[in-house]
Amino acid sequence: MTETLWRHRITIAVVALLALAVLLYSPRVAEIHELGGATMGTTYSIKIVDMPTDHLAAEDLAQAVAALLKRIDQEQMSTYVPESELSRLNLAPVQTPIVISKEMLDVLTMAIEISELTAGAFDVTVGPLVNRWGFGPPVQAARPDYAQVPDQAEIALLLERVGYHHLTLDREHSTLLKSADVYIDLSGIAKGYAVDKVAEYFDQLGIASYFIEIGGELRIKGHKPGGQTWVPAIEKPVDTAPQVHNIFYNNGESIAVAGSGDYRNYFEADGVHYSHEIDPATGRPIAHNLAGVYVIDSLAARADAMATAYMVLGAEKGFELAQLIDQAVYFVTKRADGNGFDDRYTRKFESYLQAK
Ligand code: ADP
Ligand code: MG
Repeated sequence: MTETLWRHRITIAVVALLALAVLLYSPRVAEIHELGGATMGTTYSIKIVDMPTDHLAAEDLAQAVAALLKRIDQEQMSTYVPESELSRLNLAPVQTPIVISKEMLDVLTMAIEISELTAGAFDVTVGPLVNRWGFGPPVQAARPDYAQVPDQAEIALLLERVGYHHLTLDREHSTLLKSADVYIDLSGIAKGYAVDKVAEYFDQLGIASYFIEIGGELRIKGHKPGGQTWVPAIEKPVDTAPQVHNIFYNNGESIAVAGSGDYRNYFEADGVHYSHEIDPATGRPIAHNLAGVYVIDSLAARADAMATAYMVLGAEKGFELAQLIDQAVYFVTKRADGNGFDDRYTRKFESYLQAK
């Protein structure tokens, strides 16, 4: 009886000692530090693995990120803020060089490059039509009902102000010259650009692993604690609560991801679905079976703008271009019978579908 009890006690003591040894000798598990808030009419959420707390307090980092985003959004690229650099640019006279910030110069340079690459499918001067269709700042845009949907004459008039070739940049003097009364809308690229800026800041701080998300646009680097890959999701293109459609893996690589879709930001009038993606060639919301696109690139600004461009180009032309430029792109199309979706992805996307 007593012998059994003692044996039992010894076993417990040995187990406890072993547990303690494991605790003491197990490698330190990295922690995830999270921060977030509101920006650009949406939210941001950031995860950092292994905060450099030795030289930076968590609150200081959160404040620095908030200030960085506020500058890009409120002070520079928002059309919702009347005093922003972009709002002032949009009101500035034509045929006169206007000095612009380094950030504005960088974003506009990339926007024009992508317009050229996509034969104008992506075009930041499509703003007057974005507003007319009800997807711009509230003061300029009311969602039209069917009776107020613009007719061809009104669309043609607004299209006279659309065209990236009306924008001329002088990189040396950091100026923009507008050759027509354009209205620039950076909503299709600014979120991605802001994600890149946060990533740049983290890289400077020497942060090796992070997950940065602003309104669905991402930059991911390194691994999660324990060396696991980050697992971003492709959302099912439905307007109900978010559902995972598919997942992929960064496998430690530093990548940017952006998605675009016609299923969240839209309105319906008289049974017609009007999406916030406007085709600059027609001045109308896109109307085809492509429901969502995900782009992986090294820069979130480029991924963001290209995702919008692919939405405008549609599944066929979009896929052709993505293969041609060898970009990692995942297309989700609606089946003609309205029953479910079909997926198609480029060669380059394939490698991200496997965990390594
Ligand atoms: P989200 O804002 O949902 O991430 P996108 O990145 O695709 O979606 O950006 C869509 C926004 O870009 C629209 O709400 C509009 O303001 C603007 N936009 C719409 N069509 C175009 C276009 N053809 N080129 C550039 N910007 C566009
Ligand atoms: Mg976009």
